[in-house]
Amino acid sequence: MKFQVLVEYSNRLRRVASRTEKVNIIVDFLKDLSKREAAFGVKYISGVVRQGKLNIAWKGLSELLNSRRRGLDSPSLFQIDKYLDKARSAKGRDKIRVLLPLFERLSKQERKYLVSLIVGELQQGAGEGLVKLAIAKFFDLSDEEIERAYLQKPDIGELFAYLLSKGKTAIETLGIRIFSPVKPMLAQIAESIDDVFIEYDDFALEYKLDGVRIQVHRNEDDVRIFSRHLRDITSHFPELVETARKLPVREFILDGEAIGIDAKGKPVPFQVLARRTTRKKDITKMQKQVPILPQFFDALYVDGDDLTGRTYVERVKVLSDIVRNKRHLTARMKPISKDDAVDFYTTSLKKGNEGVMVKILDSTYRPGKRGKFWFKIKSAHTIDCAILAAEWGHGRRRGFLSNLHLGVLDETGSKYLMVGKTFKGLTDKMLSWLTDNLPKYKLHEDRWTVYVKPEVVVEIAFNEVQKSPKYESGVALRFARVKKIRDDKTAKKINTILDLGKLSRISNGIE
Ligand code: AMP
Repeated sequence: MKFQVLVEYSNRLRRVASRTEKVNIIVDFLKDLSKREAAFGVKYISGVVRQGKLNIAWKGLSELLNSRRRGLDSPSLFQIDKYLDKARSAKGRDKIRVLLPLFERLSKQERKYLVSLIVGELQQGAGEGLVKLAIAKFFDLSDEEIERAYLQKPDIGELFAYLLSKGKTAIETLGIRIFSPVKPMLAQIAESIDDVFIEYDDFALEYKLDGVRIQVHRNEDDVRIFSRHLRDITSHFPELVETARKLPVREFILDGEAIGIDAKGKPVPFQVLARRTTRKKDITKMQKQVPILPQFFDALYVDGDDLTGRTYVERVKVLSDIVRNKRHLTARMKPISKDDAVDFYTTSLKKGNEGVMVKILDSTYRPGKRGKFWFKIKSAHTIDCAILAAEWGHGRRRGFLSNLHLGVLDETGSKYLMVGKTFKGLTDKMLSWLTDNLPKYKLHEDRWTVYVKPEVVVEIAFNEVQKSPKYESGVALRFARVKKIRDDKTAKKINTILDLGKLSRISNGIE
């Protein structure tokens, strides 16, 4: 950006009074800045220079202001920054000598502006506070997020340049430090391998292990282990501390899952392993009862290098260089065909895992985010639900009762609680049967829905139980689909909310 353009932006700022308008002007300015100019450009628009005090006396400044103009083309912000750098390291009158050729290229207005910047007396009514708001708006961050980031990087120029080069999600890793736990990256649920193949090209698959998330930090001999919710769980896993100490780098943050294994090395159910994270006493005894196996799948930081901005492929390469014992690495593969992927998924389930994770090859590590970069595909569960209502269908299903409201029994077995809706899996035959039979149990109806007594039972497959404020039950089934109508079963014999609780870690309050 030419220096003249900056001066014009500053004039516009001076002309408007409203804060919102000022912020909008600064946002436009930020859009015009190149990456190279970002750090100091932001300082200029907030009324200061990157170099701080240059200690030039008024006499020197007036000499610069009144020098003869020789050039016509306005210098770039980059050139200005270079001159100011040189001036800062120069002494006494040399500062003026260094700056003279620069001032000779400036118009009268530009000179005045640069002098105000140098002395820090720019009167445009837009200081650091407004620039911070503009940066937040530029990246679509909340005021709170930008304030938190600013605490970590208390220089708006550097903060803006950092976010511009790394992307706004890098805000989460600002100041990534050993022993300061990072929110773990999360996965979205995907229904099937087929779905993933339709939408994405380049991804790897990993076993989805049913253990506890571990974030292992090490600095020399100090090791700390953090849970998914950033709780310090170091004391629960002394053997993991030893494993971490043996790895051939001095400083790291690795991400992974600790699984419990039986005498044959097969994963034990999560509920068994959970004892290791809850029991505070008898750690040695617990170590013997439920031995664990760390399964690392990511590297966030190694020997001073923040890897979170690197791609999955790059991070995994670093990880495999560090973790040489293959037993401690999560099994992964890059499927060439769908058949490859299905084989890997089936093998994972056979080995006692929960399913597979899909990880996009060029994705960065996004702490705390559940984006379209990691997906989990879990094996399906089935339960029996009672139909509580059905909505009239659209399109091909017009005239048929289709979208079913599904309920399970409460703890006492006396009340039905809704846990989801689905029309998936219904065959034409089922649709006809439901349309003929459900109205027999009608309680009331509105334009769209027929509410019924819980009499008809359906077997439902689903992939996950999720927390949901939508239903009184507090949970919802993900990817529910009808397997069959259970005309052999009464609604008093269906599953209860407790059965769902067992499948859901959230409702158990286990991390
Ligand atoms: P969920 O808890 O169902 O949302 O699934 C995400 C959790 O799966 C993560 O927090 C990890 O604890 C766990 N997990 C198991 N295997 C992997 C893997 N290969 N990559 C990432 N997370 C995994």
